[in-house]
Amino acid sequence: MNESAPAGLAVVREVPALRAAVAAWRRQGARIAFVPTMGNLHAGHFALVEEARRQADRVVASIFVNPTQFGPSEDFQRYPRTPEQDAQGLARVGCDLLFLPDVETLYPLGVERSVRIVVPDLADVLCGAHRPGHFAGVATVVARLFNLVQPDVAVFGRKDLQQLQLIRHLVADLAFPVRILGVPTRREADGLALSSRNQYLDAEQRQRAPALYRALRGLLTEVRAGVAVGRAERAAAEALAAQGFEVDYVAVRRESALHSPVVAFEQQPDLVALGAARLGTTRLIDNVALAELED
Ligand code: AMP
Repeated sequence: MNESAPAGLAVVREVPALRAAVAAWRRQGARIAFVPTMGNLHAGHFALVEEARRQADRVVASIFVNPTQFGPSEDFQRYPRTPEQDAQGLARVGCDLLFLPDVETLYPLGVERSVRIVVPDLADVLCGAHRPGHFAGVATVVARLFNLVQPDVAVFGRKDLQQLQLIRHLVADLAFPVRILGVPTRREADGLALSSRNQYLDAEQRQRAPALYRALRGLLTEVRAGVAVGRAERAAAEALAAQGFEVDYVAVRRESALHSPVVAFEQQPDLVALGAARLGTTRLIDNVALAELED
């Protein structure tokens, strides 16, 4: 694809070419930032690349729709794949290299024989409780990508807060020499978090979709005002169900301990409301932290 790559962006599919490019930058003393994605890039992804640009001299992004993080009945086959358009966008926001591996490149022994990294506690709650094996797939592919790219800093979105915290745990526990940075969620004007999956929504579902964000803001506001957490969570879930959502969960947690339920507001500055719910076959996730309530 390099023949058709936009100016300023190297597009590489193979590990030796990736390693050679990164090694050349290292010899020049460059700091390297990394943004892993599944592609079909939107303004949320580009915000991560812009942050990466501020953090380092060189920015590597990857696009890989990772089969091990999709369940058998999930949307792996139909997940939107738009690499040419993504490459144009990455070049525009100053990305230096796009790593675009295929499945055999990232899983040389085959997906079935791949080593899996299991992160306890965090992988089994919230989204993990509804997507068995998902976070083992995420931890595994991110660890591989970190070993291939060897970045100084890696940038992730707070939109996938559980994933961000799981990666922080992975990096701390396995001593990856990578600093992890979280970037605030980019939203549409009506509050819906940008997501590659939003395009699955029909016009009528798209109109209803921002109710998830509103429900999470409402939930956190109530808990801050002293309403018991369990009661507020149930009310938020019922309100969403009444608007046609099939709710996986809505929950208030501490950001630093997502696996432990929270009982009451008390002195907990890092509270966050998280939710996942389906409109038709489209699964939406979102979260709101206390600091964002003032926005
Ligand atoms: P994905 O391509 O969906 O796997 O996402 C790749 C990265 O982009 C992850 O770190 C996501 O958290 C981040 N991301 C996705 N949507 C948004 C958004 N609306 N705002 C900020 N970051 C996002």
